[in-house]
Amino acid sequence: MEKSKVVVIGGGIAGLSAGIYALKAGFDVDIYEKNAIPGGECIGWNRKGFHIDNCIHWLTGTKKGTELYDVWESVGALAEDTEYADISSFYTSTYKGQSVTLWNDLERTRKELVEISPEDEAEINKFIQYVEYSKQCLIPAAKPMEMWGIGDYIKMGKSMADFPKVMKEFGKISLEDYSKRFKSPLLQKMLCDYLPKEYCVYSFMVSYATMADGNGKVPMGASLQMSLRMEKKFKELGGKIFYNAPVNSIVVGDNGMSAKAGVVGKKNASGIELGDGSFVAADYVIPTIDTNFLFDKLLPSKYMPKELKKAYENQKAYPATSGFQVAFAAPCNFEAGETTFVDIEPLTVGDRSFDRMYVKAYGYDAVCVNGDRQVIQTSIFQTDEDYFYWKGLSSEEYNRVKEEKARQIQDRIEAAYPELKGCLEYLDAWTPLTYERYCNAYHGSYMSFVTTPLGKSVRITGRLKGLKNVYLAGQWTSAPGGLPVAVTSGKFAVQRILKDLKRDVEI
Ligand SMILES: Cc1cc2nc3c(=O)[nH]c(=O)nc-3n(C[C@H](O)[C@H](O)[C@H](O)COP(=O)(O)OP(=O)(O)OC[C@H]3O[C@@H](n4cnc5c(N)ncnc54)[C@H](O)[C@@H]3O)c2cc1C
Repeated sequence: MEKSKVVVIGGGIAGLSAGIYALKAGFDVDIYEKNAIPGGECIGWNRKGFHIDNCIHWLTGTKKGTELYDVWESVGALAEDTEYADISSFYTSTYKGQSVTLWNDLERTRKELVEISPEDEAEINKFIQYVEYSKQCLIPAAKPMEMWGIGDYIKMGKSMADFPKVMKEFGKISLEDYSKRFKSPLLQKMLCDYLPKEYCVYSFMVSYATMADGNGKVPMGASLQMSLRMEKKFKELGGKIFYNAPVNSIVVGDNGMSAKAGVVGKKNASGIELGDGSFVAADYVIPTIDTNFLFDKLLPSKYMPKELKKAYENQKAYPATSGFQVAFAAPCNFEAGETTFVDIEPLTVGDRSFDRMYVKAYGYDAVCVNGDRQVIQTSIFQTDEDYFYWKGLSSEEYNRVKEEKARQIQDRIEAAYPELKGCLEYLDAWTPLTYERYCNAYHGSYMSFVTTPLGKSVRITGRLKGLKNVYLAGQWTSAPGGLPVAVTSGKFAVQRILKDLKRDVEI
């Protein structure tokens, strides 16, 4: 019997995952990707003999025995012999000559924090206790939640017994407000350094807990290699991936082409139209691309789920996340710590001014080292407003500003680390517009909507009202996005197809 055909749009982590699981479920699968390589945002690139790693700061799901680890293993991203970077801390913050580190060892952190600020002891103990509780917050990855039975809820309730306390206490407080509970200015800075200060405290606690629990390691070989491992798995299973193949639209209704009889109708997609005008028939379509682009260019906006619509209409409550990033080559003996935040002379990017910045050294991975030099990077957090600032520049101004800001950042790194003066080589700078150009990313956002106290976490099932055989995947299906959401969303889309076919959803 001829196999049903699944067409996946986008060859990022969600698209590769959807493709792999659809093949495992016995479908015939094509992936169409607009770029020349797989990975989407999970990639890196080479400059002047150095590899710049664009993505993985931590990969949630590296702990064996978790459902998410099984998914990463199943898609070929991780394996028994995967090597991880030797990183012992989340990050370090420095302020007025003092420094503090959030170690993966929570007791070590607790002691260090109390030593720095004995008067904050009670609040520090509580912080560590709640980070410990947050280790229970594991991403369910066996099947979509709408398919859960009572047994699944009981299992989750048992394994996450203390996590509701975190949500109750810290689910609606911003990091900025929380930091004011601490008297030490250094600890206040530390709490607002890593994530934007308007983020909810619980997302920070969960991030730190993931690292502290050994469930957020960094696989060696950098982000692109992980995407390539998934592409290899997809091809080995018999999938076809087409590069430089942008999809123009999802064709709704029967356009007379050859999708399987009985499937196509007004409430179904018959396939996709590619950039060159050709048509590809499909029984099922899984778009994994940016949802703002999808419901603007590939499908009429009437199909956009109302949860997404609401979020796009309320930018203040649902901001986008991006960065102005710069990479340099630096000597390998530069040992400031893996990720260290420093005070800087105010730096203006767009309309906003920044007085803190981090330096991340990539010497832990041989692919980011060339001879006795390693890549170091920084990122200045960018918002929706910043995106419009960059967007408003002419292409000459854009290049000029990018170079000028990169030079100013170099000055600030050298001011923080005088030993680097004269030793830095500029490699590259990129902005929110880079992500828009490369991935069609909404306002250059490389994560989904930020969870702020003003909004409700966005989560959609990926089914579209009025369109039966299109199943969304991708990081925009569940805030705050990221690699775990991307990889599980691909699997879940296939499980939804299987459910509708009344087949077993175990894959
Ligand atoms: C600087 C940075 C740091 C990050 N750090 C982390 C981290 O530490 N941990 C973490 O979990 N996540 C991190 N992320 C986020 C992570 O990279 C993303 O959440 C994830 O890669 C999104 O995957 P996706 O498949 O949903 O989307 P995408 O990666 O955007 O993939 C969508 C794909 O669709 C393609 N496409 C778009 N339009 C079309 C079209 N019309 N036709 C065909 N193809 C199309 C795009 O080219 C792209 O390849 C980071 C991202 C960045 C940029």
